[in-house]
Amino acid sequence: MPIITNKHGLPDALVRAVTNDPYNAGASDISVTALIDSPQVRTLRRKHDAAITVDASERMWALTGQALHHILERAETNELVEQRLFATVDGWVLSGQFDRLHLGTKTLQDYKYCKTYKAKGDDAWIRQLNILRWLLAQHGHEVERLQICAIFRDWSRNKARREPSYPQQEVQMIDVPVWPLDETYEYIRERIALHKAARAGTSVTCTDEERWYTGTKYALVKPGGKRALRVVEDTDPTVVSALIQEAKERGYLVDERLGEFRRCEDYCEVSAFCPQWQAMQQTLARQDKELADAPATE
Ligand code: SF4
Repeated sequence: MPIITNKHGLPDALVRAVTNDPYNAGASDISVTALIDSPQVRTLRRKHDAAITVDASERMWALTGQALHHILERAETNELVEQRLFATVDGWVLSGQFDRLHLGTKTLQDYKYCKTYKAKGDDAWIRQLNILRWLLAQHGHEVERLQICAIFRDWSRNKARREPSYPQQEVQMIDVPVWPLDETYEYIRERIALHKAARAGTSVTCTDEERWYTGTKYALVKPGGKRALRVVEDTDPTVVSALIQEAKERGYLVDERLGEFRRCEDYCEVSAFCPQWQAMQQTLARQDKELADAPATE
């Protein structure tokens, strides 16, 4: 358990609720949540657990998520709810807890507090629900449909009025693609192999996705203007070239907006212990210095 601080003078009750987190992955080697997350984050967390510091204010949404599950216990239901399941894969015990299995419709549902941009779907949701579906299959439950019940924490009524593609209400059911069970099993095995390697001391660096890399973007702007007329991502060189060509033809400028590793910069609890992030910061500092030291050109 990391050290929980209270830098913003939150009420004791909130801080204690965060500190006394009852989360328990049971007698397993890895949980579904950890399996789909970065092996490096998990390894560094295990190694430096006692030295990690987290402010209680940063755990409020996680706390709210737990509160939601407690409230839902009030609902009298004949469905299967909040059960933790276990299965052994390649010598490791995998465990996962699902929110709700509707037996009649064979639908597995998970509740999420999230931001509205996630209404388009989320790869981590797809992985999590498909692995839970696989775990349920190991226990004799057939699941045909996967759904997220998304509760948007940043929903705006005004925006919903203006933009038809924006979620039209604060809560939305989102269907999640269903993978074939054999492909899910292969995916689980791949992830377990990665986590095993990381635990054994092999360097398994975080991917761009795990670092929440925003990607470099190029914006078309008028000289002296600030507002971007158009923004493209750097994933397709042809699109970037077309934007540069358009800027030349119209006398506009192209503004390069370098991508950020959002998780490393602001959200990763182990960034202080991470060799990958420290190496990247040293590279960036060196590049900044080279640019500052470079002689000015006419
Ligand atoms: S700081 Fe970034 S690279 Fe390092 S473990 Fe955290 S997410 Fe991964």
